Amino acid sequence: SSSKIAFIGLGNMGAPMALNLLRAGHQLSVYDLSASALQVVREAGASIADSAAAAVQVADIVISMLPASRHVEQLYLGSAVGSSTEVPGILGQIAAHALIIDCSTIAALTSQKIALAAQARGLAMLDAPVSGGTLGAAAGTLTFIVGGSARDLERARPVLAAMGKNIFHAGGNGAGQTAKICNNMLLGILMAGTAEALALGVANGLDPKVLSDIMSKSSGRNWALEQYNPYPGVMENVPAARGYSGGFGVDLMYKDLGLATEAALSAQATIPLGELARNLYAMHSKNGAGAEDFSSILKLFQNTSK
Ligand code: NAD
Repeated sequence: SSSKIAFIGLGNMGAPMALNLLRAGHQLSVYDLSASALQVVREAGASIADSAAAAVQVADIVISMLPASRHVEQLYLGSAVGSSTEVPGILGQIAAHALIIDCSTIAALTSQKIALAAQARGLAMLDAPVSGGTLGAAAGTLTFIVGGSARDLERARPVLAAMGKNIFHAGGNGAGQTAKICNNMLLGILMAGTAEALALGVANGLDPKVLSDIMSKSSGRNWALEQYNPYPGVMENVPAARGYSGGFGVDLMYKDLGLATEAALSAQATIPLGELARNLYAMHSKNGAGAEDFSSILKLFQNTSK
């Protein structure tokens, strides 16, 4: 059945996700700070709202897909009282029966804080960060990693199924974020390690495509190597094939590794490889690559002295 959905944040991930909701027959009211982000969904039939508050007015389901914790917190709870750009959050604008689904990757603690504030207003909220990248978003094959009550997840399921293939219930509010951060810490490590291995082979005279074929059928195989190869010329249809544009930004990976650090600190866990990876992406970002796809971490390892 068709739902009235408000969708906030139509970037690299949000836009293709929203397109799949439109294809499934849902009515979409959308909002993004950037007008250019709205173009594709407007052409596909979404109605463009003047503000996030206006977008959510009559929605049964509110979906957000924003960069980081501070954006999501500001959207729902508003900016801190007394700050120069004080704005109210949208929680007060959302209809009492509506369900909030935040698909952004943010701190579990922030998710829990917003879920509690929502509950205080009688609203249900799920954290539902995704895995699968922009290709998965376009193909409708995302993995949703959900935190919240099982009952609310059942309400969300038909809508999530229009955008994704695998839907996991990780636990209560915030648990989706924790699971997502464990996954992305591993992804950040695997991408850096894959780039390092490919650069080592090339520095010693190997063809990166031949080396990738070999490792894909050997014990070093992994998703970064096989589905998202960082070496230009090895695969088509990945960011490395288009100058590292689109995809998953270096600064977003850096943010996720920072979330892993926060999770480690709060649980007194040790994450030596995650910390090393966080510092590598930080160096890479400071070199000017923050907006490039994270597979461009390869550049840190390429031998430019030849
Ligand atoms: P993006 O930067 O491409 O898009 C974010 C969008 O949010 C932009 O269009 C921006 O204008 C908009 N925005 C920011 N603040 C806003 C506000 N207050 N109100 C309305 N719009 C606002 O980012 P993305 O790649 O789409 O990633 C979104 C989230 O998904 C991030 O948390 C990221 O970590 C996560 N994620 C990304 C990928 C990926 O492959 N890109 C994969 C899985 C998860």
